[in-house]
Amino acid sequence: MLLNRRDLDFLLHDWLKAETLADRETVDAILDLSEKLAAEAFLSHYKQSDVEEPRLEDGQVRICPAIGAALAQYAELGLFSAGFPEAQGGLGLPYLVCAASFAFFAAANVATAAYPMLTVANARLIATFGSEAQFAAFAAPQITGRWFGTMCLSEPQAGSSLADVRTCAVHDGTDALGERYRLAGNKMWISGGDQDASENIVHLVLAKVPGPDGTLPEGTAGISLFIVPKLLPDGTRNDVSVAGLNHKMGYRGTANCLLNFGERDGATGWMVGAPGQGLRQMFQMMNEARIGVGIGAAALGYRSHLLSARYARERLQGRPVGQRGGAPVAIIEHPDVRRMLLQQKAYVEGALALCLFCARLVDTAEHDADDAALLGLLTPVAKTWPSEHGLAANDIAIQIHGGYGYTRDFDVEQLWRDNRLNPIHEGTTGIQAIDLVGRKILYDGAGLELLGARIVKTAEAAGGVPGLEAHAYALAAAWQSVTATIEVLRGCAGVSAFDNATPFLHAFGHVVMAWLWLDQAVAAEGADAELAEGKRHACRFFFECELPKVPPLLAFVTSRSEVAAAAPSRIF
Ligand SMILES: Cc1cc2nc3c(=O)[nH]c(=O)nc-3n(C[C@H](O)[C@H](O)[C@H](O)COP(=O)(O)OP(=O)(O)OC[C@H]3O[C@@H](n4cnc5c(N)ncnc54)[C@H](O)[C@@H]3O)c2cc1C
Repeated sequence: MLLNRRDLDFLLHDWLKAETLADRETVDAILDLSEKLAAEAFLSHYKQSDVEEPRLEDGQVRICPAIGAALAQYAELGLFSAGFPEAQGGLGLPYLVCAASFAFFAAANVATAAYPMLTVANARLIATFGSEAQFAAFAAPQITGRWFGTMCLSEPQAGSSLADVRTCAVHDGTDALGERYRLAGNKMWISGGDQDASENIVHLVLAKVPGPDGTLPEGTAGISLFIVPKLLPDGTRNDVSVAGLNHKMGYRGTANCLLNFGERDGATGWMVGAPGQGLRQMFQMMNEARIGVGIGAAALGYRSHLLSARYARERLQGRPVGQRGGAPVAIIEHPDVRRMLLQQKAYVEGALALCLFCARLVDTAEHDADDAALLGLLTPVAKTWPSEHGLAANDIAIQIHGGYGYTRDFDVEQLWRDNRLNPIHEGTTGIQAIDLVGRKILYDGAGLELLGARIVKTAEAAGGVPGLEAHAYALAAAWQSVTATIEVLRGCAGVSAFDNATPFLHAFGHVVMAWLWLDQAVAAEGADAELAEGKRHACRFFFECELPKVPPLLAFVTSRSEVAAAAPSRIF
């Protein structure tokens, strides 16, 4: 089993009321199809594509052939296009449903699923900001799944700090595809940067246009966005070459390249929209990718939890405390193993719930400013919490498997390796924390008020449900502590508010998760008894074992501790 379908159905229908976005039959059909294809075509090469890493041969990257075969089926079933409007050749499915479908593929084989994730986000960005001609030339072939896409932001010297991008774009005329430029520079870490599974590759590249004196503008305001295809519209090779492949710990099926643009006379690219808008436009792709990363991280943790539960039922070891002799029991009989399973369950079901909640906001944010503000606030949490806690669930999975978990014979070690990327790419945890504290809280608190109102509403509802009253009280108290901490941060002069941004993000994420667990527990009251029992137990675990981790973190932040800021570099 890749994910618990009952849980997914509960989240989508009982909790998030997906029927207000799409009819139940359509949602069920897409999920049935996704679950089947993920199990048959993606899971089937999970180990193979980990072992058969991408190779660079005569300038061309070759990936494990099973990946291309799986993605051809994905395209044939219309899954690349599913989320696009019918007018753009899609099925017009809500993002929420696409996100749930994607979770199956990420659980089965996240490295293979990364190709469509990037392709769809790339095409959507061109559809939003590009011209009609650019859409027809570069987005349409991606929507059918014939071409794949990349996002080229990072450079060897510019990772977290994109202001330091040095790729240069020089104007080269105007044609039917818009303003044409010649690009030169190096892009590092490019996922899907080259492969032999699609007919062409559309790179979306951040670069700077030099001023009249030939120097590149400072900061992010000077960054523009360019479409740079591997093969030009006339079928010839563009001036983009693979300088090397990165040999990764996990996610190995996704070819990861150092790309050189313009080694000869400049790579041809067309500007998307206006100059200087590149980072703003790219944020659409990055925000989508951030929720996608969260879903992937949740799904990787989720499958490791299901594998753990199965293993714990099968593995016989030891006897209950105080019992001598007799047959050994399954390890699931040991409370400590059940504690680990509960911790995983609280992490992975909670992480999936958070990401689907955000996916639903994506569907309504376009027309609802409140939902847009709430989504903005929760996006760094949706990227980070599942990345950190999905990974923690993977770690626990290895522990539950004992020595067998430490071998390559079981999937849990690979799931851990795959998930270890997620706190790093699409903005590290530290960068998400700065985004949360800075842009999302201190500079614009609109989302915060909306979140507070939702938390109060859930606490009120839970207060009337027998057995949940204490949790309702604890949630309201935790939220008060968060808002009090934010007041302290507001009082911090200058950048010191950011010094302990990551502990704050961890505390904030845990309170958001407590809210979502309580909200699920309330919604599960009407669901089937077995599911409701599981939700209640995991909710109780979260409130008894996880929420108490919040006060020390917030106390550290409110103390304005400068222990890290004041630590001299020389002591390390
Ligand atoms: C497998 C993989 C796939 C990737 N795919 C892509 C892709 O497709 N396209 C793309 O453009 N990029 C991609 N990336 C790049 C990825 O987004 C970067 O690795 C990431 O943004 C971090 O940049 P960096 O590696 O240069 O680390 P650095 O920026 O050097 O960061 C190192 C550490 O310093 C911390 N740090 C840095 N700056 C600050 C600061 N101002 N304040 C506090 N802490 C800070 C970070 O949090 C981190 O812990 C990928 C990376 C990997 C590993």
